[in-house]
Amino acid sequence: MGEKMAVKIVIPTALRQHTNNEDELQLSARDVKGALQELVVAFPGLRRYLYSDNGRLRNFINIYLNEEDIRYMKGEETPLSDGDTLMIVPSVAGGSAHADPHNVSLSSSEFARYSRHLIMPEVGMEGQKAIKASSVLIIGAGGLGTPSATYLAAAGVGRIGIVDFDTIEKSNLHRQILYSEQDVGKSKAEVAKERLLQVNPNISIELHKVRLDSSNALDLLKNYDIIMDGTDNFPTRYLVNDACVLLGKPNVYASIFRFEGQASVFFAKEGPCYRCLYPEPPPPGLVPSCAEGGVLGVLPGIMGSIQAAEAIDLILGKGTPLIGRLLLFNALDMKFKELKLRKNPDCPICGPNPTVKELIDYEVFCGVNETLEPGFEISSRALKQVIDAKGGVVLLDVREPFENQICRIDGSRLIPLGQLPQRVNELDTADDIVVYCHSGVRSAQAVRLLKGLGFRKVRNLKGGIRAWTIEVDPTLQTY
Ligand SMILES: [Zn+2]
Repeated sequence: MGEKMAVKIVIPTALRQHTNNEDELQLSARDVKGALQELVVAFPGLRRYLYSDNGRLRNFINIYLNEEDIRYMKGEETPLSDGDTLMIVPSVAGGSAHADPHNVSLSSSEFARYSRHLIMPEVGMEGQKAIKASSVLIIGAGGLGTPSATYLAAAGVGRIGIVDFDTIEKSNLHRQILYSEQDVGKSKAEVAKERLLQVNPNISIELHKVRLDSSNALDLLKNYDIIMDGTDNFPTRYLVNDACVLLGKPNVYASIFRFEGQASVFFAKEGPCYRCLYPEPPPPGLVPSCAEGGVLGVLPGIMGSIQAAEAIDLILGKGTPLIGRLLLFNALDMKFKELKLRKNPDCPICGPNPTVKELIDYEVFCGVNETLEPGFEISSRALKQVIDAKGGVVLLDVREPFENQICRIDGSRLIPLGQLPQRVNELDTADDIVVYCHSGVRSAQAVRLLKGLGFRKVRNLKGGIRAWTIEVDPTLQTY
């Protein structure tokens, strides 16, 4: 038996109503277990928060000894030294344990604002305070992020973070309902913050105008209770999933394409994660993005609203969230369908033997930065010079016919990417061919395909017709 050591226990704000608002306690103990026992003797009201009925430390309570989680030391048996600091860190995700409604109060103006929530037994005063005490990080202030942010702000979520570094384009306006005509060219995050505070000035909005990547994701996500994935690309989806699994946070997910939507809650502590469903991303170019395939404007409104409802359910700890279920919605047939999702025992990140233990390079994982060798690419300006100087270039448009109807580079030939393998005999390997699409992704695939078939003088137009419109011919219609 060692000597008792003089240590300090720091009480988190969420638990201070049980310690007469004391924020720390000096005591002496031999090990962590002894210190916690001293603590609950001093503040008996804390006991039921820290311990379950069978006397075990609750699993949503983490104890840190000088910045180190005791689970990775000797647990409650970890010995103490003089001057040590113990910190109680309650988990802040899902269910009633995370957001302590006792710490917040509602003003009379908030009473009026939330009255239709307050009179529902499923929300009530406690629920509304839990909503106010909660925080949600919205990744992507686009089609999904704008409706979900609007509803969460209106509902009174106390702290909303927005990750987006994009500017508003005219083609966003048919679905991204926080933005209007005069906002084109402005920062999405800035405009979203302004509008959301107009909806509800009682909340705080935190902006993160960065590209989410492996270097910043954990630091950003760890400060929020719930993460909402409103992104539109695979590298970010896997990044958000993996970061949520590593941090133990729920990932409220939705995705949209044309008139079909998907939604789920990936929460590895209680069910499957995104990788259980999709262990590997599709090869780049196989699944077109909304920019290539289009999306019905109202669809993200519905799916983003579902995400907002799921976040509120998680905050309230009420109902049955979409954990372990994949909700499918078809806006043309107006049908909902539901699939059961199972936790994959071989999941590389949330399975019992994970191979992914830290964030990786998601661009490489998804193969999206596989660039063509320099000789197989050409910029819009360089192409224009070639056409003006000597011509003789065969321009091949691999987009869909309806895209070709919106705009095209003069003199180009249309063979949609899907038909290229069957119609390749319409092309001559001796020709100098430049392939283009909307943004340069599908055309890069076409170039790889043609290279594989023996075409040597084939190049990809970098940035597609979008770049051509900006750099060479602004008179073309954009989409
Ligand atoms: Zn998993």
